[in-house]
Amino acid sequence: MAHINHNFLKLQKNYLFSDIAKKVRAFQEEHPEAHIISLGIGDVTQPLAPAVISAMHQAVDEMAQGNTFRGYGPEQGYSFLQQAIIDHDFKPRGISLDLDEVFINDGAKSDTGNIGDILSLANSIGVTDPIYPVYIDSNVMSGRAGDLLNGKWSNIHYMPCTAGNNFTPAIPQEKIDIIYLCYPNNPTGTVITRAELEKWVDYAMRHNSLIMYDAAYEAYIQDEQTPHSIYEIEDAKQCAIEFHSYSKTAGFTGVRCGYTIVPKALTALSDAGEAIPLNSLWNRRQSTKYNGTSYISQRAAEAIYTPQGQQEIKATIQYYMENACLMRQTLKDIGMDVWGGENAPYIWMKTPQGMDSWQFFHHLLHRTNLVCTPGVGFGPSGEGYVRFTAFCNRENCQEAMNRISNQL
Ligand SMILES: *Cc1c(COP(=O)(O)O)cnc(C)c1O
Repeated sequence: MAHINHNFLKLQKNYLFSDIAKKVRAFQEEHPEAHIISLGIGDVTQPLAPAVISAMHQAVDEMAQGNTFRGYGPEQGYSFLQQAIIDHDFKPRGISLDLDEVFINDGAKSDTGNIGDILSLANSIGVTDPIYPVYIDSNVMSGRAGDLLNGKWSNIHYMPCTAGNNFTPAIPQEKIDIIYLCYPNNPTGTVITRAELEKWVDYAMRHNSLIMYDAAYEAYIQDEQTPHSIYEIEDAKQCAIEFHSYSKTAGFTGVRCGYTIVPKALTALSDAGEAIPLNSLWNRRQSTKYNGTSYISQRAAEAIYTPQGQQEIKATIQYYMENACLMRQTLKDIGMDVWGGENAPYIWMKTPQGMDSWQFFHHLLHRTNLVCTPGVGFGPSGEGYVRFTAFCNRENCQEAMNRISNQL
């Protein structure tokens, strides 16, 4: 008789988006005439850049010819893409990387979830709260999270990010082995300053901690000062893994491609107390369990770095950021407290009049027929907030903001 991994039974059902969908469906049935606009789900809406499309067509044509056909590719990715990443995403910021420090992935969700394979179950975990749920759930699955007590996992250290601390998590007093940071942040849309990020690298160096840095929204940074990569901070190559994704950068949620940086200077301890390079462990893990990202997707990603590709993806990011600007301003104008939306496609709003997240969700749906995401769905410190996404069409965004101005 086979036995299951009992940790899966500990997982909380992730009801958030199915709950939202159920409630929206029920409302639509009661009000068939209502034109509901969703500002809820974090998925892109604009089509792929023409430069990406033509690169994909070309890659498909190569697959059709015996002399250019590609079968299994390198699990770590093709060097043409690794090199383009180094040249465009890191060199201009003064960061040097070798090809074998860049692992092409099929998205940041997979790698942030899988990276725990190479790390001991005994590690303690720290997360900012509210948070992207994958970091916690993947640790629950592997048995690293402990037990759920009063809505929190016993082996996970929650670092609240609220208006009270301006969404800047306090540097922990105690030693935490692995810390997840995501900036620009989903769900709050806030960023980390260079000075704060330096404090984290300093903390990690002092405690031999490992930082998992999720930079999925890096391309949305608009100002000059905000760091795009943790490796802009001295010593970060000795204490951090960084995750990137083309999902939000270039609308690749349905194409699938991203990359993970595991520097060769990064080590963690063996049971015998030896420092073991994580790069070689991750390489071994990927060679066994990952087949590589499809050639077509990697050629698509490469095209983002051409001058035409850069111009096109930047235009789409600007389109979303103009939505964000309109949303931020409209919400402010009616007296709401809002954060984010300046260097990220998310707006985080304090619910008015002491409503909790779900109360405001219903209030908004009934008054304006708009859908937001209740902040409490991202963690206990998200209670009393909601998230709006700027990933929408301009017409819908304008219509939604008119309703907020006139009806809320
Ligand atoms: C969307 C998102 C990702 C990217 O996910 P993919 O698997 O690459 O599509 C990663 N991290 C966060 C926080 C996200 O919101």
